[in-house]
Amino acid sequence: MLKVTNLTSGYGKTQVLNRLNFEVNAGEIVTVIGANGAGKTTTLKALCGAIPVTEGTVEFEGVDLTNHTAAQIVDAGITMIPEGRQLFPSFTVKDNLLMGSYKRAARPIVKDKLDEVLQIFPRVKERLSQFAGSLSGGEQQMVAIARGMMADPKLLVFDEPSLGLSPLLVQQMFDVIRNVTSHGVTVLLVEQNVFRTLRLADRGYVLENGTIVRAGTGQELLNDPHVKRAYLGH
Ligand code: ATP
Repeated sequence: MLKVTNLTSGYGKTQVLNRLNFEVNAGEIVTVIGANGAGKTTTLKALCGAIPVTEGTVEFEGVDLTNHTAAQIVDAGITMIPEGRQLFPSFTVKDNLLMGSYKRAARPIVKDKLDEVLQIFPRVKERLSQFAGSLSGGEQQMVAIARGMMADPKLLVFDEPSLGLSPLLVQQMFDVIRNVTSHGVTVLLVEQNVFRTLRLADRGYVLENGTIVRAGTGQELLNDPHVKRAYLGH
């Protein structure tokens, strides 16, 4: 579904990513794990059109999306849930959700889509008329995911969804991510919470200093001596 070949990118003259290769098949949960500064967020920015790709290609469903605009990438079916929520705090939850349906093809079906999304997120449904800024951090993160679903994505891309959440909420977040895949959405997940992420993911890639150093199933990576030593503390 998503095929990234020799992806090279960075900020101005600073190259951060060096020829990354990875792919995501339809229906999978795929993760990219790595330490602070490894280049995880940069990878997602390059994929989603926020920074230029200087070498390599991004293909989605056989179409070359390299260096397309963020709007074209959303229209193709890739929606990113950004790190740190980024809701409109003084708008209601409902208005925030409606703003998610900016993908052109999603507009005619907004009402149906809202009903469908609220079925997946009953807690969000209870808070539709509340200002987004008055929700707890965990609730805001759920609204951010629900808003992403409003764009009717084929691939949902998460940037560290567990960041700043309490352990209980982290578990709920991972349950929600599994749940969206049962609604036909494929997931690419960037995370620092390596243990839980690898347990959830079908496959994963380990990113270090802008290069992929390991690839395998979630279970293979959990058993990998380097992953154990560097990320799991044993
Ligand atoms: P974290 O888990 O801390 O968010 P990350 O793996 O997502 O880390 P990135 O944010 O992709 O890492 O950063 C990778 C490298 O790119 C870092 O060395 C960082 O300092 C650098 N970098 C990030 N954003 C910029 C920017 N806007 N301009 C210049 N360098 C940047």
